[in-house]
Amino acid sequence: MLKIENPQIIWQTGKAPYSKVFEDYYFGVDQGVEESNYIFLKGNDLENRFKAINSLPKYSKSKISTNNVFCIAETGFGTATNFLLSAELWLKTAPVDSCLHYISFEKYPLNKQELLKAHAGNDIYIKLLNELINCYPFLLPGRHDMVLLAGRIKLTLWFGDVQTGLPEFDDLVDAWFLDGFTPSKNQDMWQEDLYSQMARLSHNKASFATFSTATNVRKGLEQAGFSVKKRKGFAKKREMCFGQLIHHRSFSPVKPWFSAPKSVQLDRPQACIIGAGLAGAAVAYKLASQGWQVTIIEAEKEVATLASGNLAGAIHPLITADWNIRSQFYLKGYETTLSWLEKWLEQKQIIGDLNGLMQLAIDEKTQKRLQDCLRRVGLPEDFARWCDKEQASEIVGTETEFSGMFFPKAGWVNPPSVVKKCLEHENISIFTNHKVNEFKQLTNKTWQITTDKRVFTSPILVIATAGLDTNLNTQLGMDIRPVKGQVSHLDSGLQAEPLKTTVTHQGYSIGSVCIDGKNQSITGATFESPDLSIQPSAQANADNIKMAKTALPSWLSLPTNIIEQDYKNIDSKVGFRPTLSDHLPIIGAVVDNDYARENYYSQSHTHAVFRYPEQKYQQGLYVSNGHGARGLMSVFLAAEMIYTQLVGNKQVLANNLLYATHAERFKIRSWRSGI
Ligand code: SAM
Repeated sequence: MLKIENPQIIWQTGKAPYSKVFEDYYFGVDQGVEESNYIFLKGNDLENRFKAINSLPKYSKSKISTNNVFCIAETGFGTATNFLLSAELWLKTAPVDSCLHYISFEKYPLNKQELLKAHAGNDIYIKLLNELINCYPFLLPGRHDMVLLAGRIKLTLWFGDVQTGLPEFDDLVDAWFLDGFTPSKNQDMWQEDLYSQMARLSHNKASFATFSTATNVRKGLEQAGFSVKKRKGFAKKREMCFGQLIHHRSFSPVKPWFSAPKSVQLDRPQACIIGAGLAGAAVAYKLASQGWQVTIIEAEKEVATLASGNLAGAIHPLITADWNIRSQFYLKGYETTLSWLEKWLEQKQIIGDLNGLMQLAIDEKTQKRLQDCLRRVGLPEDFARWCDKEQASEIVGTETEFSGMFFPKAGWVNPPSVVKKCLEHENISIFTNHKVNEFKQLTNKTWQITTDKRVFTSPILVIATAGLDTNLNTQLGMDIRPVKGQVSHLDSGLQAEPLKTTVTHQGYSIGSVCIDGKNQSITGATFESPDLSIQPSAQANADNIKMAKTALPSWLSLPTNIIEQDYKNIDSKVGFRPTLSDHLPIIGAVVDNDYARENYYSQSHTHAVFRYPEQKYQQGLYVSNGHGARGLMSVFLAAEMIYTQLVGNKQVLANNLLYATHAERFKIRSWRSGI
């Protein structure tokens, strides 16, 4: 199911919310809090277990350890009562340097208004509820991650069926809340698959609690390896169940060739990054802000000079007709980008504006794609809304004959200001004008990076050199194609009708970008593959202006008899989008080639999956590359992904998206399909 449906709640004064879909109450009539506390928190003995968590050893203060994470998983987020109560208890009882990771699956999520309504008049967790509302994700399918209370609580919501969600996780759960309406009214959920997935994701001795005592539930849990006990139920209910995993079986990974790399244990966390564009700067910032010492090496004279040196880049999600893997990945990327940049923009630490973006449907194909997506996925209004041409003209501030999709939270930023903001962190040392000629691993597993000026060594090496450094990309076996693009910079005074939002059409146009007191309009960009010359051309400027005029005929007041000489005089910039054939980036650890050849590529691809060993990686080597034309929507997510791999935290991405951006995916795909 792609479309996220509304829960269709009936609200009655003095009664708990009632679900029309399941014909059941969310909790017992007026004692939701007591009931949750009794069944789920006490049923899992959370207070005692939270108190028993030890403070981190001193070494781990740099956040290298993951021992301090307690993970709860829940079937049915509903009104968030269980979450809010668990979080409150966590704040009161667990050590301040530990983290609660709460994962909840919800097929019919409440919207923000409904969540507030469900807790109206209840102020025991008002602060937390407001935090939740502030970071509550778009009601779109898939995994959404939020960080609350400066990292003390992480909330992961899976919007969609729990049965499709569970296989996308590899976390180790400490306590399960088996909620989700009574089995007689929700048979689809209470199935054997649920219990076996619970066992797969359970820590040794993970606990569970549920209000249900149905025979099938008890049997299912027991067969999956849980002990099941009964005790008095809440209020008038006779009994409830609780228990623990007692038979821990090992589960072989579904795709061993994509298994996660092992974390690296370091006495002093430090990393070297090659490439000071957006991709490298984002990783540098993530690591530096977690206490790592970072060295970043850049061949150019300054940081953010190549593709990341553009005056402005658009930030917006990717809409495909069937919400394919790219839409799913870029939604996650978009959410991560907003979570990084919104605050910096608000505090004017970077240049840009998230005042909305209009994607004009400039041809029938685009129109069909956008409308198909609306129909199939049912995009929520705070994410995107369809506009006819009159509405689109009104929103963008100038006439257009095209209808389009408006993204109210999207917009543009100035990438160099983002790179500079990331790299100004005190834990980062920058070496510009250093061209890397070679990198190799020494016998002690340290990486040695040789530039034209000096030699660096580091236990961790992250390569983020985009598309032009074919030398390094070939060494890594990465087939990244640089696709040339030119953007044109016009005096913003040339706007006859100033743009009120960012607009995308065949390219994109931004009305007013003010850098160092100079106010310019940006329009572009051409696609000029396979041309690799760095020279801007008059023809590309002409093409850019033609694209803008087709979409927004009254935007610019340019002379009608504009000649080649005029186009030549337009200020412009050429950049190269590092592109892969499936238009997704490459993110994370790089495999050990000899091991992969020996254990996969030289083997038949038809063995039973459990016969293949797990993947092995080159210790300490990571990439963030191939971000194409959408780097602003993927580099921050890439930084989060690399950080989680480095420290051995659980990933922030659904498994299918991890595999889709894995550095080895092309070779694995060929091998698996027997090519
Ligand atoms: N735990 C919630 C709370 O604290 O408010 C109450 C949960 S309510 C009783 C049950 C929830 O399970 C509903 O929100 C329902 O939409 C959700 N649900 C039911 N079947 C589901 C399924 N197959 N996958 C995911 N969620 C499901």
